[in-house]
Amino acid sequence: MQFKYFLYPDAFAIWHDNPIACDFCQIDKKCFDGNAFKGEDKFTAICPECLTENKLQDMDAYACEGDIVLLQQQLQSRKPEKSEKAVMQKAGEITDALERCTPPIFTHQNWYWPCDGSDYCSFLGYGSKPLYIQLANDGDGEDLLLNSLYHTVENYTDVDEIWEHILPKAAITSLAAAKLFNTLFYVFVSQKTGRVVTLWDKR
Ligand SMILES: [Zn+2]
Repeated sequence: MQFKYFLYPDAFAIWHDNPIACDFCQIDKKCFDGNAFKGEDKFTAICPECLTENKLQDMDAYACEGDIVLLQQQLQSRKPEKSEKAVMQKAGEITDALERCTPPIFTHQNWYWPCDGSDYCSFLGYGSKPLYIQLANDGDGEDLLLNSLYHTVENYTDVDEIWEHILPKAAITSLAAAKLFNTLFYVFVSQKTGRVVTLWDKR
């Protein structure tokens, strides 16, 4: 199972432990935990199929908030001839698909979901030294971490300190493993450009 903006939900999404009735199709199955969603409208469980089918569209319920300001800038600079209204409409459509048809990710703080190349990035997993080394074309994981920092975190990130002392030394392969860390690194990949993008926060 894959979502456009969440590549490995089996490992990292926030699931109910056992099969449960989906609030939308009423079928007992493996479902995402409704408590992980933001917004005024509460529900207990939603299955991957109902989430994909945009069953949240008429509700005040969403997984995350996209960095729509930057997305609009990227869309506009790619097509300068388009009117601001048309760009805003396109950005709204893309943002809806992200926020309402994607499973929430576990984070310590709230931040805007990153975009790159006129689309939102896909969540790959939680950062660790082995992951950055694996993703780096030349094997220089620290350099990749430096170059992957999203604009919202790059000004206050001490990459040397993080690489030496804070970044997990073993790969994080499950949400349960990620929750053990007080500082988490969220690794995204741009489907449009291939760029690796990092956000991080503390408990
Ligand atoms: Zn369902």
